[in-house]
Amino acid sequence: MPVYTLPELPYDYSALAPVISPEIIELHHDKHHAAYVKGANDTLEQLAEARDKGTWGTVNGLEKNLAFHLSGHILHSIYWQNMTGPKDGGGEPLAADGVGELADAITESFGSFAGFKAQLSKAAATTQGSGWGVLAYEPLSGRLIVEQVYDHQGNVGQGSTPILVFDAWEHAFYLQYRNQKVDFVEAMWAVVNWQDVARRYEAARSRANTLLPAP
Ligand code: MN
Repeated sequence: MPVYTLPELPYDYSALAPVISPEIIELHHDKHHAAYVKGANDTLEQLAEARDKGTWGTVNGLEKNLAFHLSGHILHSIYWQNMTGPKDGGGEPLAADGVGELADAITESFGSFAGFKAQLSKAAATTQGSGWGVLAYEPLSGRLIVEQVYDHQGNVGQGSTPILVFDAWEHAFYLQYRNQKVDFVEAMWAVVNWQDVARRYEAARSRANTLLPAP
């Protein structure tokens, strides 16, 4: 039995059009995300084999592969849920929509929604090579932070929980936006599912904080 499985999309391939084309969503989910799921499962098997045989010469590469594939699986699993059709998504989180605590946390952490939006947009659009722009809950300070993630796993503050992720890999946009990564990131804001982001914020905040000393 594989440890990890590919989650179903919460909508059909055309749900995010015209922001993201059905062709991109199908390839991105069915091929790219699926490959990370397989990679994580394969790497766990290879680590089990290394333990059985005591062949530790491969451990550095396997641990790197595990971080890459597992992080790819996790970030894509969040990415699909973070988005909804342009009819329901986008704008900014508002108290009137039941996501006032998230809105307040963004203002407290970044000064304003506009400041946050600019920082996450820049972080996503200026990734060198492959990466992500990520809004994360950082439990030691209780603040929200923006991370510019390299590949799927680099440049991350340990212990932080991603709650809104922008995929800035070329496979996320190239078929539709060609080399215009800035345009893709700007368009992404129209399909953000703030209800999902708020749910993740509440869950991350209420989780037991293992970074603080015992009371
Ligand atoms: Mn991707």
